[in-house]
Amino acid sequence: MQSLSWQEQLAQAIRQPNDLLDYVGLMADSIGYSQQSIEQFPVRVPYAFADRIQRNNPDDPLLRQVFPYIDEEDDCEGYVNDPLAEANVQPVQGLLHKYNSRVLSISTGACAIHCRYCFRRHFPYQESSTNGKHLEQSLDYIRSDETIKEVILSGGDPLTLSDRRLIELCQALSQIDHIKRIRFHTRIPVVLPARLSEELIKQIANIGKTLIFVLHINHANEIDDAVINNIKLLRRFNILVLNQSVLLKGINDSTESLIALSERLVENQVTPYYLHLLDPVTGTAHFNVDEQVAKILIQKMHESVSGYLVPRLVKEEVGKAGKTRV
Ligand SMILES: *Cc1c(COP(=O)(O)O)cnc(C)c1O
Ligand code: SF4
Repeated sequence: MQSLSWQEQLAQAIRQPNDLLDYVGLMADSIGYSQQSIEQFPVRVPYAFADRIQRNNPDDPLLRQVFPYIDEEDDCEGYVNDPLAEANVQPVQGLLHKYNSRVLSISTGACAIHCRYCFRRHFPYQESSTNGKHLEQSLDYIRSDETIKEVILSGGDPLTLSDRRLIELCQALSQIDHIKRIRFHTRIPVVLPARLSEELIKQIANIGKTLIFVLHINHANEIDDAVINNIKLLRRFNILVLNQSVLLKGINDSTESLIALSERLVENQVTPYYLHLLDPVTGTAHFNVDEQVAKILIQKMHESVSGYLVPRLVKEEVGKAGKTRV
């Protein structure tokens, strides 16, 4: 499997709940799933990620991130399709200018993996990505506002774009003097390690701006040798590598689990950046960890490890000038 190109690996990703259960040694239908949810937001799990799921363990923390539990059908008060009201902060479709000095570009709607807790699961990507016709408009907007110092390439996952498109995009941004930094928000170095190549990283590192990669890892078990090699590759080109996680019930909601993740990150030169409280998106209530519980977890981390191992606990609130520290 690992000798396939990244495009082939992406095309062959697991797409059925029972295929996933079968692959990890569990009986078909041994865990109930929501047909209704997967019609909206299908299962997608690359084998490279499925290989890190422990066999015969229905409670595996990686399995829980990608399996469409029947709980997704629970209707919960306060859980909505667009909790961040992102439809209202796009000067150009697919470009979010919500916070000062930086813009976030939804460079594509595609992801290599479908994380069931994702706050973008209901996002109207078809209309809203800066891919294609909105790209020039986005670049014009960024050029015209000198207060913008940083462009965040997000999505979806920006690394699903082809090398050619990524390089073109970075080169276009590199021509804009007031842009000092380009930041990638990506889960691909973790979930589809074969996507990164020295050639690609070299080319984007060459554009003369400060580069930052914010990875998205929720559990220490996600970090295997292939992931470590990708982190080394990024570090070799002087790219700052940070990590953000989402606090998820049954996945990483213990001090031990969070400390194990931070230690594994720092051991590999990745700095823990944010720990997000779940956004209240329809279908994700079963992942929610109470804010009070979250604060206690962070407090306990502070009492037992070095400060740089403790990520900032944040949540997103509509109408705020940045993420809210909890
Ligand atoms: C999270 C986010 C950012 C980045 O915020 P930082 O605190 O700089 O990491 C920027 N724009 C939007 C719309 C975001 O949601
Ligand atoms: S990779 Fe990121 S954007 Fe894509 S489904 Fe997972 S959390 Fe959501």
